[in-house]
Amino acid sequence: MSRAFNFSAGPAALPEPVLRRAQEELLDWHGTGASIVELSHRGAEFMQVAAQTETDLRALLSIPDDYAVLFTAGGATTQQALMALNFAAPGQAVDFVVSGHWSKVAMKQAAPYVDARIAASSEAGGFRDLPPRAQWTLSPDAAYVHVTANETIHGVEFVDIPAVDNAPLFADFSSSIASEPVDVSKFGLIYAGAQKNLGPVGIGVLIVRRDLLERAGQPRANIFNYASQAASDSMLNTPPTWNWYLLGLNLRWMLDEGGVAEFARRSERKSRTLYAAIDGSGGFYRNEVAPAARSRMNVPFFLPDAELDARFVAESRAAGMIGLKGHKAVGGIRASLYNAVPTEAVDVLVGFMRDFQNRHG
Ligand code: PMP
Repeated sequence: MSRAFNFSAGPAALPEPVLRRAQEELLDWHGTGASIVELSHRGAEFMQVAAQTETDLRALLSIPDDYAVLFTAGGATTQQALMALNFAAPGQAVDFVVSGHWSKVAMKQAAPYVDARIAASSEAGGFRDLPPRAQWTLSPDAAYVHVTANETIHGVEFVDIPAVDNAPLFADFSSSIASEPVDVSKFGLIYAGAQKNLGPVGIGVLIVRRDLLERAGQPRANIFNYASQAASDSMLNTPPTWNWYLLGLNLRWMLDEGGVAEFARRSERKSRTLYAAIDGSGGFYRNEVAPAARSRMNVPFFLPDAELDARFVAESRAAGMIGLKGHKAVGGIRASLYNAVPTEAVDVLVGFMRDFQNRHG
């Protein structure tokens, strides 16, 4: 058996020790004679897994006590619709900072329920930079301001998300959560699908200031009500226990590795190495994002033509690297450098890039 270097944008690489642990425990979890995924979510065993997962997430992200943590079934897109229902009155203004594909999706999901306004957009420039804070037009009556911390497809990331004072800041951290320390108290709400930087697909996390849960929002079924979910520890119905368990193993691994400060160091080193290889290639490889807005997590780049892009993907696969094909919306190549991608993978990729350029440049 050999494991590839996995640069997939999501679902993405998981740490090998986590997969091994899950494999070891699959048939008999802690002497119960059953897999964790065969046990009741209301039993003492799973309740312990769930509680430990929350404790570890709170420790990893330094989440203050006045924030509730929800474990959401389904991905980030669902939350983009639900947060509108939970925190905005019908037709109330919500401001969106549009910095790439996923900001637009967030806006589209909220649009049926709120007055979705573009506060700023970098679309005219092809999402190669972030809209400067000085140009954000914020609404005095907004329910919240939505930003995307890292744009997974366009490869643009806020170094430091600017503060706003008209309304609470809600941030999609799907593709950069736990990759560096973040001051949670700056935000009304942080959410992320787990399948990139946190663990498996099928579960997400939502961190929300408790006072916001008291907002009336809009008519919605109980199952879509975040306050009800918070009151029942995200167990109003049967949660995705397998995903929750894997998320828990992954969080423990991150804490054991040194936590977000350590992953910030690794992310910096991995992305610096890759951007240096791109920029030092004499134009053979091109990343078009403004240097200050370049993502540490997702690095899109282009070769001189689409034929070479395709050849790069095929040859890199043959050399043991997977997940490098760019998103169809932008083409080219994309290397995702999430927490579970080892530094060694980037060193191998950069070596391959040099070799490929020598042969085809
Ligand atoms: N936001 C961002 C930044 C993403 O990268 C993604 C998924 N690629 C989403 C939202 C949507 O997530 P999901 O597929 O979990 O709904």
